[in-house]
Amino acid sequence: MAATRRSVREYLDTLDDAAWGAASETRPKFVSRSDPAAQWTGAHKGHAFFAYATNYLIDLDHAVIVDVEPSRAIRQAEVGAAQTMVERAQDRFGLWPERLAADSAYGSAEMLAWLVHDRGIEPHIPVFDKSARTDGTFSRSDFPYDHVRDLYTCPAGKELRPRQRVYRSSALLVDDDGMIRYRASKFDCDACSLKPQCCPNTPARKIPRSIHEGARDMARDIAKTDAYAASRRERKKVEMLFAHLKRILRLDRLRLRGPCGARDEFLLAATAQNLRKLAKLVPAPSPIPA
Ligand code: SF4
Repeated sequence: MAATRRSVREYLDTLDDAAWGAASETRPKFVSRSDPAAQWTGAHKGHAFFAYATNYLIDLDHAVIVDVEPSRAIRQAEVGAAQTMVERAQDRFGLWPERLAADSAYGSAEMLAWLVHDRGIEPHIPVFDKSARTDGTFSRSDFPYDHVRDLYTCPAGKELRPRQRVYRSSALLVDDDGMIRYRASKFDCDACSLKPQCCPNTPARKIPRSIHEGARDMARDIAKTDAYAASRRERKKVEMLFAHLKRILRLDRLRLRGPCGARDEFLLAATAQNLRKLAKLVPAPSPIPA
């Protein structure tokens, strides 16, 4: 009973944290009465269950775990945990990584902007992009962007300019979702033979562009480099650590409840993994001559 009261109190204490309650406004389908911070998840394609996620920040050269942070088992919470670990590694150890390699779950516009603009870290991360269309009409990638003139050009060669707060002012209109809408002229679209492939159901084509698109473009450019290919290979080291955690250390079930219980267990498991790594790095003592 005391353990349940403590896990409920911990749940209430973490409601505003980026890796916990503040990660998403979506109400979970089920909430555990004895451990409400645990996330109901069916992400593993089997039976759904209550779970916590463990997140690692590792040194890519030696696969040493630099930091551990528990979170809810949803993407937004894992991104919040990654930010916490990067900040903590900088504050505690003075570590300023040049690059961060991660999978597409960390490729949201906000996360990429945070890495590039707030932390000066190269994002070696696939961009989270859902702009490709599947109905046969032109996707956003068919509209090249001109950085100098701040406009898109459509396949018919016409310009799509950003909406402005006041006609011909320099203040752009940013919608609540953090997007600036670039619009073609209705006059151009009405007379265009490509309209059925472009915007068959609207008077003119619109292209949304995130206010963080600069960081996303940087991540896209990095994704074409050899350094990115190397980062993608090195990323497997963290997957191997998670596989080791489940298969060898058998941490597929937690004994303690609440965020603090999960933190303690994940921290101990990561410590065991680092000690094992250390034992392999330290050369074995040479045999004493007889
Ligand atoms: S419909 Fe409009 S935006 Fe689309 S290709 Fe034609 S002119 Fe360009």
